[in-house]
Amino acid sequence: MIITDTHTHIYSEAFETDQDEMMQRAIENGVTRFFVPAIDSTYTDAMYAIEASYPEHVFLMMGLHPTHVKENYQQELLHVENELKKRFVESSDRKFYAIGEIGIDLYWDKTFLKEQQEAFRYQIQLAKKYKLPIVIHCRDAFEEVFEVLELEKGDDLFGIFHCFTGTIQDANRAIGYNMKLGIGGVVTFKNGKIDTFLNQISLDHIVLETDAPYLAPVPYRGKRNESSYLVNVLEKLSGIYGESEKEIAAITTQNSTDIFGV
Ligand SMILES: [Zn+2]
Repeated sequence: MIITDTHTHIYSEAFETDQDEMMQRAIENGVTRFFVPAIDSTYTDAMYAIEASYPEHVFLMMGLHPTHVKENYQQELLHVENELKKRFVESSDRKFYAIGEIGIDLYWDKTFLKEQQEAFRYQIQLAKKYKLPIVIHCRDAFEEVFEVLELEKGDDLFGIFHCFTGTIQDANRAIGYNMKLGIGGVVTFKNGKIDTFLNQISLDHIVLETDAPYLAPVPYRGKRNESSYLVNVLEKLSGIYGESEKEIAAITTQNSTDIFGV
C-alpha cells in the first residue's frame, strides 16, 4: 500500500532533533510520497537538504505562504521566480511539482489583504506559465480566494485546495475550479464538520495530507503532527466512505499523480 502525503512540512524546525526517525516512521507506515510546500525564502535551504536526503520520496513545491506576505513580499516573489527558473538551467537538476502554498489567510492578520491577493494572483500566473498545479491555503477567506480563482479560471488552472474545511457548497465550488480537496486531521475532529458531508463528494476529488507539524489527527490532536499519522486519517476516511484503506490509498495516490505528474 502506497500512501501519499500531499502536504507536509518535513523540513520544519519542529523536526530538528528527530527528522530521520520521523521519516522512517512514515515510510514504515506506508507513507512513502511526501509533497512539500514552501513558506518563504528562509526555508529554501532546509527544503533542498531534505530532498537531497530522500530523493526518491520527497517532491518539492515553490511559493510564498499568505501569512508570510509582508512588507518585503515583492522580494520574496522574486525569490520564488528565481528558484523556479532553475528548472530550466541545463546543469541544474532542480525540480518543482507545484506552486504552493499560496492563497489568502485572514485569520491571523488582515493588514496585508491587498498584498496577499496580489501575491496569490501573481503566483497563479507563474503556475500557468510553468504549467504547474497550485496548492491553495485558505483560512477565513473563501470569498476572497474564490474571487481570484474566478479571474484566473480555465483548463490551465488546477491543483489542490489544501486543508479543506468549508461547506459542501464550498467543496463543489472548489472542484468546479479543477481543485482536489486536501483532507487531513480535521476530518477526525469531533467539531470538524467535513466528516458529515464528505461521503457526498466522490473519492476522485480527494487527496490525503497531514499539514505536519500542524493539525494532528485524533488521537494525537493538539500534539506535533507527522506524516506517519496519515494512517489515522485513512482509517477515518475508510469509515466515512465504506471502502477499504487499501482502496482509498490507491485512489488518492492516483489523484496525487494526476495533479503533480509524478
Ligand atoms: Zn502548510
